[in-house]
Amino acid sequence: MYTFCFRLESTLEKVDIVVVGAGIVGLAIAAQVARDDREIYVLERETSHGQATSSRNSEVIYAGNYYPRGSLKAELCVKANPVIYEICRENNVPFSQVGKIIVANGEEEVRQLEGIIAGARANGARDLELIDEDGVHELEPDVKADAAILSPSTGIVDAHGLMDHFLREARLKSGVDPLVLDTEVTGIQEKGDGYEVEMVSGGESFSVEARVVINSAGLYADRVAEMVGFDIDSEGYRIHWCKGDYFSLTGKAPAKMLVYPPPPLDAASLGIHSVPDLTGRLKFGPNAYYVDEINYKVESELEPFWRDIVRYFPMVRREDLHPDMSGIRAKLQAPGDPVKDFVIRHEEDKGYPGFINLIGIESPGLTSSPAIAEMVGEMVEEYL
Ligand SMILES: Cc1cc2nc3c(=O)[nH]c(=O)nc-3n(C[C@H](O)[C@H](O)[C@H](O)COP(=O)(O)OP(=O)(O)OC[C@H]3O[C@@H](n4cnc5c(N)ncnc54)[C@H](O)[C@@H]3O)c2cc1C
Repeated sequence: MYTFCFRLESTLEKVDIVVVGAGIVGLAIAAQVARDDREIYVLERETSHGQATSSRNSEVIYAGNYYPRGSLKAELCVKANPVIYEICRENNVPFSQVGKIIVANGEEEVRQLEGIIAGARANGARDLELIDEDGVHELEPDVKADAAILSPSTGIVDAHGLMDHFLREARLKSGVDPLVLDTEVTGIQEKGDGYEVEMVSGGESFSVEARVVINSAGLYADRVAEMVGFDIDSEGYRIHWCKGDYFSLTGKAPAKMLVYPPPPLDAASLGIHSVPDLTGRLKFGPNAYYVDEINYKVESELEPFWRDIVRYFPMVRREDLHPDMSGIRAKLQAPGDPVKDFVIRHEEDKGYPGFINLIGIESPGLTSSPAIAEMVGEMVEEYL
């Protein structure tokens, strides 16, 4: 790890681009915009990259089945799905295209599936298939369902492998290491043709001047936007932290595929689903509840979790489930609000030329990361 003092070349160094946050999104963007004639810093307050939401999620490569038509979530997820598989194949990033079934029990849920399949097709997800009880049984004999949607292009990926790939790309393209760890951005001032970015790195204060600032600070992206002067309430940029817990299952996994219920109508989560990982372990989650502080302790009661699971995995025993991990979503959707889209904006029209905000990058942010990076890359090329 090296902090900022090792890179400081003058009292107020001028660079082309500062990316705030080294999660999957910041790293994918760095890989996209890096060039050997560009000075770029990716500033990360933790002592290693990808320690926040990007390492606390289901690691699912989504196909874009659920998101509202015309939304960035739908467009970028559908676009990025085949790109992620290509990146994985070409760069030895561990993945498995295990496929997914969204299972329905009872008439109401079967009707819900029909709505999901129509919406997903309208979003461009072409390979979905409605299957009946026998079809489900053939694929996953231990799953209870009257019908299901089969999504063969859904899979799982090693999120750290993917982040390491993006970081390698950024280093290769820029010829130096753009990642600066243990460095928290604490203030951003507009400066005519750029921004003075203030930071505390390894316990010391530094500043750099950057022509472009890319805010991909995940759970804190609203605070970073506030630093430069955005009124996050009037802009609709306030982030609401929404936690999701997982329980792992001991013993043999009852399914190889990802198995999801239809999404609950509150739409804060996709419903408690089975999440196989690349080692063959199975966990269930995540649920969704809003929190005021960041802590990653599993706080949910097992009982309601287990009740959800046995609706489609009747053989899972309560005593075989154990608290596993949790993650926190950076939601623009406050409790009771309708689903909100990603904010990915060059804020030039609001008086902040060269300032790019990425706010509310919740699921499917991991899947969408290469398409988000391409979109931000176009904004940068147009501006610089
Ligand atoms: C429970 C859960 C399950 C999910 N499952 C999936 C899934 O299966 N598939 C999928 O596609 N998506 C999934 N997601 C969404 C996905 O994980 C996120 O969209 C993605 O990880 C967001 O990446 P990010 O880089 O924006 O944020 P982060 O990974 O949070 O990175 C932001 C970084 O910014 C740093 N930072 C913050 N403030 C500062 C500052 N002031 N100075 C310097 N650094 C700062 C943080 O330390 C952090 O490293 C899930 C999310 C959750 C919570």
